[in-house]
Amino acid sequence: MTPPLNALNPNDPATREALHARLRFYRDLGLGEFYRRQVDPSAWAQPEAPTEAKPAAAAAGVPVAAVQSTSDSSAFFPGILPVSPEETEIAPRKPFPAAPPIAPPVPPEQHFAALKLIRDDIGDCTRCPLHVGRNKLVFGDGDPNARLMFVGEGPGADEDASGLPFVGRGGQLLNNMINAMGLQREQVYIANVVKCRPPANRTPEPDEAHTCSPFLFRQIDVVRPQVIVALGQTAVTYLTGEKRSLANWRGTVHPLRGTKLIVTYHPAFLLRDPNQKKHAWADLQIAMRELGLTPPARK
Ligand code: URA
Repeated sequence: MTPPLNALNPNDPATREALHARLRFYRDLGLGEFYRRQVDPSAWAQPEAPTEAKPAAAAAGVPVAAVQSTSDSSAFFPGILPVSPEETEIAPRKPFPAAPPIAPPVPPEQHFAALKLIRDDIGDCTRCPLHVGRNKLVFGDGDPNARLMFVGEGPGADEDASGLPFVGRGGQLLNNMINAMGLQREQVYIANVVKCRPPANRTPEPDEAHTCSPFLFRQIDVVRPQVIVALGQTAVTYLTGEKRSLANWRGTVHPLRGTKLIVTYHPAFLLRDPNQKKHAWADLQIAMRELGLTPPARK
């Protein structure tokens, strides 16, 4: 029988991995940030070295910070957990910089050139530390006049190698999602919050996202899609400047820069938990309704 979480020893590598997997799962669901509450360290003392027992977070060099929580996560994680930087999400909180004012519309026939101008402005970017590990900057891809735009978090390894967004396994799933809506990938526009791959695919740091997101807003203002689908927590957080759980965003249409924002799960999360695909499909159907699309007949 699986012991309760508060009976687990976080010094055990298998336990740590299991806890990290659970944290990733909650993060993908949009739950977080998590409290790490002090507990009696003797509960986790190593029998062979009882005098050296210390809180696991301190042992892992992780500062113990009480941060705001969007859920009562202390019920899930009632002790100090050894959370790696990968799992710490978007913290600490600083006020979000205001999004730039919406740019005047560009005539449709000039969208391509206007996007190229943004790409030229980005140039061989060194504005944030992400440029250090970059192979290719991933600007965005698709129809400059698309009615539907998808926004992800940031490039992964495949995207960093190719310079195109969503070309790895998550990209395959995104293509399937687009096709299920009765569209081809070439008919939509795809971009990310950050344009360079974060090391080990970690969540972009707030400073990185805030440095890069003005270019995303400019892309949105040029393409002027009718509907934007935010893929996952990072996308919706930096598009809106508001940190809420995905459950809070999903299921309704939100106004954003003169377009309609719909929020769903990130494809990487759906690959990890395929049971959630039906919920993502429900989100995409909201987008289809807004676009007046009907799904293609099943063959
Ligand atoms: N994940 C993202 O968020 N964006 C990509 O382009 C690829 C994977």
